[in-house]
Amino acid sequence: MPMEYDVILRGGLIVDPANGVNRVADLAIADGKVAQVGDVTGRAKIERDVTGMVVMPGIIDSHVHLSPWLGGAAGHRMLALAGVTCALDMAGPIDGVTRFAAEQGCGLTIACIDYVRPGHTVESVNPGMAELRDTLARARASGAIGLKILGGHFPLSAEASGRVMQVTADEGAYVAFHSGTVDTPQNVDGMRQSCELAAGNPLHLPHINSYTRGLDGSALIEAEDAIEMLGRHPNIWSESYLAPINGNSGKCANGVPEAVATQRNLERGGFEASKEGLAQAIRDGWAMVHVLKDGINHLQGGPEGLLAWQAAESDIGISFYANPPEPRLHLATARRADGSYAIDGLATDGGGIPRNDLCSRGLGLVHLDALSMEGFVIKTSMNPARVLGLSARKGHLGVGADGDVTVIDLARLTPVASFAHGKPILADGQVLGRSSRMLVPPEGAEHVRAMGMDVLIAEPGSMIPGRAA
Ligand SMILES: [Zn+2]
Repeated sequence: MPMEYDVILRGGLIVDPANGVNRVADLAIADGKVAQVGDVTGRAKIERDVTGMVVMPGIIDSHVHLSPWLGGAAGHRMLALAGVTCALDMAGPIDGVTRFAAEQGCGLTIACIDYVRPGHTVESVNPGMAELRDTLARARASGAIGLKILGGHFPLSAEASGRVMQVTADEGAYVAFHSGTVDTPQNVDGMRQSCELAAGNPLHLPHINSYTRGLDGSALIEAEDAIEMLGRHPNIWSESYLAPINGNSGKCANGVPEAVATQRNLERGGFEASKEGLAQAIRDGWAMVHVLKDGINHLQGGPEGLLAWQAAESDIGISFYANPPEPRLHLATARRADGSYAIDGLATDGGGIPRNDLCSRGLGLVHLDALSMEGFVIKTSMNPARVLGLSARKGHLGVGADGDVTVIDLARLTPVASFAHGKPILADGQVLGRSSRMLVPPEGAEHVRAMGMDVLIAEPGSMIPGRAA
């Protein structure tokens, strides 16, 4: 009697660098796991001819936003449409992330690190070890795998930033640091300071682009500087993104945009750093408002964007063209002497922020021969699985791996189908996935299960493993 599978994908080009596979074959999934790669003879509930398509381990976006604070409720749908099967929320707040994951889930596996924010999760900009241990314990009990230092947005003191990374190292928790402290800006000097403050402890250093915008000189020289710095710190895992736009808050108080980054971007465009200046910048298309339409966020400038910003009483996301092209390309493709990628991951800082472009822009690099297809898989699935401590089960397509798969139409730079644990998420532009599975620490499992979600357990110490020096 022929074997009955959940899914069979027939005739695709399987690209699985972790297992050295790059050939045309069938792939079968049973009981949520990869069951066979080769000539599959059985039948399945879902069978699909994927001749001419690339079949890769599910895309893992190692930097997204899926909270009410950042990104908003549409993020899960936007990630599903982008072919992503697993993602790391890079700020929390954790309670908003779990709520949206339960209510808005589209079948993805989601992990979250919770912010260390003065006035919210810590009292001041200079929390001590004991307070930070409590902050981490609360975050974990709510389902977060670790902490995010908000640096450039809501900085801590340099000493406290270092203490956060000491606490997460002691406890085997995840940590990411948006460079910058109360007395160091978010630039290449801020990044250098972050590397020093980590003091050899594990660290995810996000969006290297954001420190190499060339505000004080050449962006490419800064990118080279950043790469050289990371080369000296095998304890630090990094990612970069490809989008030309950033993501800011449009919120104004007392006639001024609250976020310093928003003020700077207005000045850069020749606008006054005031509420009226922001209104003018939106009208002129320099600032683009994140407008929800048909269940996803779009960038909208002009009169329509202005109306949306006014309707939200300015409390809405906005984006500016802030990222020069040269470092985006260089950071995505640069390699170390041993052939490994200088920046470990390719991510988006997307989710609810409309720049989920791993396929639309990342596969453009494959067309340019700037990145091989294997390179794309390494940076968008294999390396992110490793940093999350999931490389035994995700980031590859060996028999027994989770049935997380993204099917790509390379000619159209687009995902055509995706599956997580053998369940369909995306099929030809339709989002089919429901609910979420969350990667949580052991002490957060009960809380997240009680919200109706499945969990994967992130064992302490399994994450940000670092590379051989
Ligand atoms: Zn971010």
